[in-house]
Amino acid sequence: MRECDVVIVGGSVAGLQAALTLGRARRRVVVIDDGRPRNGPAHHVHNFLGQPSVTPADLLESGRRMLAPYDVTLVDDRVENIRVEDAGTPRFEATTRRGERWSGRSVVLATGLTDELPDVPGVARGWGDRVVACPHCHGWEVRDQPLAQLGMRGLPARGVARALLLSRWSADVVLFTDGDDLDREDRIRLEAAGVRVDTGRVDRVEAGTHGVDVVQAGGRRTGYRALFVVTRQHQQSDLAARLGCQLVADGARAGAAMADPDGRTSVPGVWAAGTTAFPALLAIGAAGHASTVATAVHAALIDDDIAAAMTAWPRPAPPSPA
Ligand SMILES: Cc1cc2nc3c(=O)[nH]c(=O)nc-3n(C[C@H](O)[C@H](O)[C@H](O)COP(=O)(O)OP(=O)(O)OC[C@H]3O[C@@H](n4cnc5c(N)ncnc54)[C@H](O)[C@@H]3O)c2cc1C
Repeated sequence: MRECDVVIVGGSVAGLQAALTLGRARRRVVVIDDGRPRNGPAHHVHNFLGQPSVTPADLLESGRRMLAPYDVTLVDDRVENIRVEDAGTPRFEATTRRGERWSGRSVVLATGLTDELPDVPGVARGWGDRVVACPHCHGWEVRDQPLAQLGMRGLPARGVARALLLSRWSADVVLFTDGDDLDREDRIRLEAAGVRVDTGRVDRVEAGTHGVDVVQAGGRRTGYRALFVVTRQHQQSDLAARLGCQLVADGARAGAAMADPDGRTSVPGVWAAGTTAFPALLAIGAAGHASTVATAVHAALIDDDIAAAMTAWPRPAPPSPA
């Protein structure tokens, strides 16, 4: 068993930024990561200040290099379980797939999300390249070109919202609902934004001369510069639930660890950083949130230390009656 102050699970932008802030605060930290950052399939990270053209892998590698001066250990492994030892003050024992065991006074969960893609052949093959999700991440690079938005069957409202968003980047946007009907209100809003609607089924998606071809039932093929899709997001790890943390029941954060803005979960000593707590965060937002979480973790550890020191002190004797 190796000991540290803070066990960080997940070493993408949130986990590494939390480690940087805690390392600089002279905390002993371990970051355990199994190498599946959400944006891994993408060619570049966009919309990240100070990084005009960096790949996801290079961004994380430069983050790891920055941790060298500090008391931060990086472990390439998967955390399988975390056990809480509570003998007055809790300690958290993380066990990895390869059998390493780390004990810390706090845990930061920075385990992120995965994307469930629309069930259309070719979407998964193009993911991160010609098929993307977020206009704020990839819209600028394909601005003013023909763009397609594919909804997720059964979630027409999300496809509408995404197509309306995308209309800011191009005047040539078509929304494929893949068989879902739209109500009159949505059609009017899309028309007002200049978005065309196609409610036919999409047979498949292929690489095309302009970027991506959408092939519909009957063989009709149309080329676009990029295909934006709606995804269902899932937490990559169930550690928060297994630690007993309350989870968000519904809405945009459904499944995320319930956490306050500092990342404090319902279980003392367990913190959630980045998209583990706030799924909508872009990469720089996840890093920024993790930095806030790390400062709060550090402050909580100091409070614990001071409380323990004061308990250990001999109390001054009460004044004796004269
Ligand atoms: C295709 C795509 C492209 C994107 N492009 C951009 C972009 O250009 N700009 C932008 O700002 N945002 C972009 N995003 C969003 C961006 O990926 C996220 O905002 C960011 O990755 C969130 O970081 P995170 O640290 O919270 O989680 P993640 O990046 O999801 O990292 C979680 C980490 O935890 C690890 N992990 C999970 N469970 C365990 C476990 N049990 N044990 C050990 N390790 C574990 C995973 O391996 C992973 O490395 C994109 C997303 C996608 C899907």
